Amino acid sequence: MGHPTSTMKVISKISEMQEISKEIHKKNISIGFVPTMGALHKGHISLIDIAKKHSRFVVVSIFVNPTQFGPKEDFNKYPRTLTKDLELLSEKKIDILFAPTDKEMYPKGYGTYIDVPDFSNKLCGKSRPTHFKGVCTIVAKLFNIVSPDIAVFGEKDAQQVVILKKMIKDLNFPTKIITGQIIREPNGLAMSSRNKYLTDKQKQNASIIYKTLRETANKINKGERNIPKLKKFIKDGILTKMTHSSPSENSLKIDYIEIINKNNLQQPKTLKGECLIAVAVWYGKTRLIDNITVNC
Ligand code: AMP
Repeated sequence: MGHPTSTMKVISKISEMQEISKEIHKKNISIGFVPTMGALHKGHISLIDIAKKHSRFVVVSIFVNPTQFGPKEDFNKYPRTLTKDLELLSEKKIDILFAPTDKEMYPKGYGTYIDVPDFSNKLCGKSRPTHFKGVCTIVAKLFNIVSPDIAVFGEKDAQQVVILKKMIKDLNFPTKIITGQIIREPNGLAMSSRNKYLTDKQKQNASIIYKTLRETANKINKGERNIPKLKKFIKDGILTKMTHSSPSENSLKIDYIEIINKNNLQQPKTLKGECLIAVAVWYGKTRLIDNITVNC
């Protein structure tokens, strides 16, 4: 348990995971939890490091959750690299990998879903209308299975963090959410399991997204407060530079560009406090999201 020589246990049964969590809690040991969909990268690893700092017993889950994918989305082709993930996780010396099957999580007749409509119909929710319902449902189920004291989520999915915090508050989950900053490739591209869909050239070009976000943050820091002007700067920056440097590399389409209050995702009249600049871009068939926080 959190000991250098301990070995990781892989569990696929809900009842077994619940039993272990109960035993750990009986010993007054805190449980830290990192839910993932696998195809692990340094972003996931950074969350595991945070969990280890906060708790003696660390559980990671890998489950490609079908209910958070829309009917035309990439559920079937989502990268599944369990052997490599297992290697990475045993190097990290976590205590448990919980990796259930679809049937274990959603048996025949499953019928309960959790919705946080206030925050789920904007940003990513506009083009993925059922996504956050799936996310909330699986996270609530995982919390009931793992009983974590803390759970770590990435700022990369900033809207997800806001929605899950609301769900936890509204449904009185005893779990505290801790967030980890976005881990990036050396060129600035936010790490993502979906980056596996990109060619090397596309990965290089996609770094323009973060460059543009940084330039926009600089403009705000220098006093620019005109939201439509800032949004136009982002749109032009991404479209012009990414298309220019790769006219042959598939189509580029902006899904959304938002500059909003980070805590309630509302569009403010004037920028103040913690502001989130968030974008989603379709690069060929790959949807990329990124964001940056600016203190206004
Ligand atoms: P996923 O496996 O994509 O569902 O992500 C699992 C967790 O890792 C979520 O909390 C994500 O926000 C987080 N995550 C994904 N990419 C990154 C990244 N580049 N940096 C930090 N956290 C990340």
